[in-house]
Amino acid sequence: MNDKELFEKLSYTVKHVNTVLDEALKAAAFEYCEGYKDYITKAKTEREAVTLTEKIAQENGFTALCDMSVLKPGDKVYSINGGKGIMLAIIGKEDILEGVNIVGAHLDAPRLDLKPRPLFEDSDMAWLKTQYYGGIRKYQWLALPLAMHGVICKTDGTSVDICIGEEAGEPVFTITDLLPHLAQEQSQKTLSNAFNADNFHILMGGLPKGDDEIKEKVKFNVLSMLYEKYGITEEDFTSAEIEFVPAGAARDVGLDRALVGGYAQDDRVCSYAALKALLDMQQVPEKTAICLLVDKEEIGSMGRTGMKSRFFELQLGDITAKLIGGCNIDILNKILFASECLSADVGAAYDPQYPEVFDRRNSAFAGKGVLLCKYTGGRGKSGSSDASAEFTAKVRRIFNENDVLWQNGELGKVDVGGGGTIAQYVANLGINVIDCGTALFCMHAPFEVANKFDCYMTYKAYKAFFENAK
Ligand code: MN
Ligand code: MN
Repeated sequence: MNDKELFEKLSYTVKHVNTVLDEALKAAAFEYCEGYKDYITKAKTEREAVTLTEKIAQENGFTALCDMSVLKPGDKVYSINGGKGIMLAIIGKEDILEGVNIVGAHLDAPRLDLKPRPLFEDSDMAWLKTQYYGGIRKYQWLALPLAMHGVICKTDGTSVDICIGEEAGEPVFTITDLLPHLAQEQSQKTLSNAFNADNFHILMGGLPKGDDEIKEKVKFNVLSMLYEKYGITEEDFTSAEIEFVPAGAARDVGLDRALVGGYAQDDRVCSYAALKALLDMQQVPEKTAICLLVDKEEIGSMGRTGMKSRFFELQLGDITAKLIGGCNIDILNKILFASECLSADVGAAYDPQYPEVFDRRNSAFAGKGVLLCKYTGGRGKSGSSDASAEFTAKVRRIFNENDVLWQNGELGKVDVGGGGTIAQYVANLGINVIDCGTALFCMHAPFEVANKFDCYMTYKAYKAFFENAK
């Protein structure tokens, strides 16, 4: 071995997909992304994602866990949490006390929710007041076509699903922005105080109804149309979950179509990969394989449908009881501490337009495969569960043995910011976990961008984990 060969053997270089690209890989990645684009185009909210995922699960032979009284290896089951989270499992051959393999992602995404009393009239226009959800950059959500999605629950127990603005020919909605000619004063402000999010009002209508006895004719017209179409009154908004999201389908990006652009790729690029990896398993796995899709990650994983909820433990206990005839807290704890998880969430792709925020030597790059992230958090790893070196080595081995192109990467430079995922809450249960997902450009923007090969490698990574986690 000469020095050049020795140097190559000893040093570590992360491969770019272009160094291994052939027609077969390109075709596989592009075909995979057709299904992915379809999924994120159809599922714009966490509720829609759960409904679509349940439909796909049923088409692939999955049964509701609550409808099964006994389970055996090879059985495919799912459970839904409040319409906003879903867990799918394929029962493995091995004793469940040896632990399960989980790929966990989230289905919620940054957006604009309606306030409980949203509707008002001003300057002969009807408007809706919003409250943003998750970490948005406020200026990105103005002067943009938005679609209205969600559910309105009535006091009689019925509910109405709403989806307006996605089909060709349907109206869209928007929040108005200031013209540059009059933005002199605003332009002097910093980004964090230039936009007043309490004034983020959706433009809802402009036509009047009624005679001069009616003070707010445009509001009256909007209420009449809502009543006519959905049978709802203004009070019904107080028990509604209406989300305004970017209107339109996911698209290819770039002349050569190398990338996917669309809304809510954080984290559906990983949710879809986890789902598809589970569905595509050809054989009954050794360990029980679980795809866990949760809600509320973007606001701290709180609540009944977030990762901090006891939903997962409850379902795992139910599966165990139906497999081995019973379960108690000791059995459950034993399984949890023997289990392993890929926390399937996105990271930041190195953006050459903003080199100042990235540590180039520890960044993820678009096109270099699925991203392994040992720790997230801010400042001194605050809020991070910091995956163990042992588990990281195991995952690295599985990827290397299964032709998964992977890279490691941090979010950005030390002390420039930070972020978290569900990993810390999974780890708190006793489960070995590491963050592993796709690197995105423009994370949390209305139009996020992912490299198609990275999307495909994310899927391959999860599949290899489910099939080879020994
Ligand atoms: Mn995320
Ligand atoms: Mn996020």
